Amino acid sequence: MEGLDGFSLTLAQWQEQLKAMGEKAFRGRQIFEWLHREKAVSYDQMTNLPLKLRERLSREVPLHLVRQELVQRSAKDETQKFLMTLWDHEQIETVLMKYHYGYSLCISSQVGCRMGCKFCASTLSGKKRDLMSGEMLQQIYEVERVAGVKVSHVVIMGCGEPFDNYDALLQFLEIIHDPAGKNLSLRNITVSTCGLVERMRQFADLDTGVTLAVSLHAPNDVIRKTLMPVAYQVTMEELMEACRYYTDKTHRRITFEYALAQGVNDSVEHAVELAKNLRGMLCHVNLIPVNPVAERSLSASDNDRVKRFLAVLEREHIPATVRREMGRDIDAACGQLRRRYEKGAENNHEGSSEV
Ligand code: SAH
Repeated sequence: MEGLDGFSLTLAQWQEQLKAMGEKAFRGRQIFEWLHREKAVSYDQMTNLPLKLRERLSREVPLHLVRQELVQRSAKDETQKFLMTLWDHEQIETVLMKYHYGYSLCISSQVGCRMGCKFCASTLSGKKRDLMSGEMLQQIYEVERVAGVKVSHVVIMGCGEPFDNYDALLQFLEIIHDPAGKNLSLRNITVSTCGLVERMRQFADLDTGVTLAVSLHAPNDVIRKTLMPVAYQVTMEELMEACRYYTDKTHRRITFEYALAQGVNDSVEHAVELAKNLRGMLCHVNLIPVNPVAERSLSASDNDRVKRFLAVLEREHIPATVRREMGRDIDAACGQLRRRYEKGAENNHEGSSEV
């Protein structure tokens, strides 16, 4: 694709790069620190590098920037949703949420998505391209710059399927916890997948300390197939096996995401079936009343159904909570803002009033 990108190189790769350019390797560390600790966006800012080298780097190792296009602020909580523009004018979403333990940022891993989940707006026009690891990192840096906060937790749960962009994901993880960069503990990171089991196993073998979230959304294959095309490739049984492999290898609790859609997957019988599938698993279930998307017919389960569903899981000793609905007033469901903006840009009458 676009070749070399300065933000996507690990410290070791920067040192190699400088050596290959006939420069001293310690320059590699200086540049890495500028990009990932000082949040520089241009070689011009790297004042401890010789001017000649800065000029050469601008030509030979481009910095593909991610810049904030607009921000929506929730009136109800402190959630902020950012529409980001990439160097090739593609757009992605990043969501900042404030918790008692700090600021958590939900970042995107692809432009669009090809997984096709029926309730998700990110996937409506398919996948445009993968993000480079540098573009994943810069969502964090750009938000820290423009919102003036320090991000302490990252969830890879925005647009895209991270395990469908596996190499960039691993590169992202290596860079983000490098002490010469942001130095974020991998325990503060959550990766969410719709259930690509081969990748889940490979990822388990790496034992990174990252929390794995699995988007389940159904108690059985029949319902899962109606919501998530991936269920045609991977059965619940295979998915549960891969989950058990992950917990056995890493001893880390898996989070199951379960979006409750009225009359689809939210009955007491469904809860009983779900509990049966999860029995004995080191896990936690996040129940989320589905965020309605204009293009889809699903609606959120009402409070009584949510409570009844939760009560069954509790009775069956499956740890579960109903997720706080943050930023619902600002299109916080995946892909809704980008989608609205896309439509707005095409029709030239929507989107700009969001700011
Ligand atoms: N592809 C990954 C990560 C991106 S989706 C995955 O599938 O996990 C992040 C989470 O948001 C998933 O659990 C997804 O199912 C959920 N999600 C997407 N659209 C939603 C909606 N409209 N309402 C509730 N949850 C939604």
